[in-house]
Amino acid sequence: MSNRISYIKGLHCPKCKKEYSEDQIRHLCDCGSPLLADYDLSEAAKNWKKEDLKNRKPDLWRYHEVLPVRQEENIVTLGEGFTPILPLKNAGKKIGLDHLFLKDEGVLPTGTFKARGAAVGISKAKELGVKTVAMPTNGNAGAAWSVYGAGAGIKTVIVMPEDAAKITRNECLVAGADLYLVKGLISDAGKIVARSIEKNGWYDASTLKEPYRIEGKKTMGYEILEQFGWEAPDAILYPTGGGVGIIGIYKALKELQELGWIEEKLPKLIAVQAEGCAPIVKAFREKKKESEFFEHSSTVAFGINVPKALGDFLVLEALYETNGTAVSVSDEEILGSVQEVAESEGIFTCPEGAALYAATKKLSKEGFLKAEDKVVLLNTGAGIIYPDTVRKEIPYLELDAVL
Ligand SMILES: *Cc1c(COP(=O)(O)O)cnc(C)c1O
Ligand SMILES: [Zn+2]
Repeated sequence: MSNRISYIKGLHCPKCKKEYSEDQIRHLCDCGSPLLADYDLSEAAKNWKKEDLKNRKPDLWRYHEVLPVRQEENIVTLGEGFTPILPLKNAGKKIGLDHLFLKDEGVLPTGTFKARGAAVGISKAKELGVKTVAMPTNGNAGAAWSVYGAGAGIKTVIVMPEDAAKITRNECLVAGADLYLVKGLISDAGKIVARSIEKNGWYDASTLKEPYRIEGKKTMGYEILEQFGWEAPDAILYPTGGGVGIIGIYKALKELQELGWIEEKLPKLIAVQAEGCAPIVKAFREKKKESEFFEHSSTVAFGINVPKALGDFLVLEALYETNGTAVSVSDEEILGSVQEVAESEGIFTCPEGAALYAATKKLSKEGFLKAEDKVVLLNTGAGIIYPDTVRKEIPYLELDAVL
């Protein structure tokens, strides 16, 4: 890697504006808000040009100038990033869109885009000298942090609801994590983790309680813009749980503007949630700046079953500032979309990704999205890690059957 590897210069609180050093372990702001990483972008812009990317490896570390790791030897990588953007020609046509695309995060290590957050989060934790990280998870984040933790020599303690996808348990176990199950929700797992961290002094890797997972996820924004030749698409749809990805993409867009690599025009950012867990959609409809706890949440798309996100105000800001919107869809629509996208394109999406197709259908019908709009769906994970989303009956044959 060339010259200076990272232009990180500190952390700041988006709520009370307090600043912190990035050279020490820091979780939330004293005021309780998540922290965001800052870079010296004017300095970076002097030494770093878009053209430099042409000779770099197709992974997320190609944007190392705007990632937090200072020393190359701390980078733990499994080749994550630079996932393909596939045109959904048939599926798009069906719902009246001529330029519908899907960025397929299902090809990442561990099968979801949680690999991006884990790669950068674990690498920075290694740089900060962390020995043990702990987190509550609905499954996918735990799997990713366990795997990257193993690569970094960092111990991982993972607590997940017993309903979380079974495969994610095995990913944690095979990587040597200490895995625990709870008969409850991720919020219950979170309370156990919080108590245990206080007792044992572990590094808290809960969603948005450390500032670097966002940095990994923001690379989706950098990639989308690079892959579209630095011209913003009209809309990006994102399945929103904790909101890390959408906050990250918005952050990437602002950084790219500051670097002078993209124009004024930003894509409309659209948060998609399940009807059974839609706190952001409710807050957006009520034009609020924060969401309320969504009682008795439930959905097949467990990656977006987050009843109250710590960064909800940042998600809502991203929607308002980009003239985006928020949409909810039913589990029935989600499961129907898994089938519809797979049958028309051959792409087996995760239910969270399929929710976006269902939402796009609604937005196209309502006229929020137009036929000529360039629209990108983020399929955040692989369908093959959710075998139970396919509910077709399979006929049995007698041994002497002929078809
Ligand atoms: C975690 C997760 C999400 C939600 O991600 P956030 O960035 O926390 O909103 C969406 N899809 C899948 C597959 C996930 O694992
Ligand atoms: Zn603060």
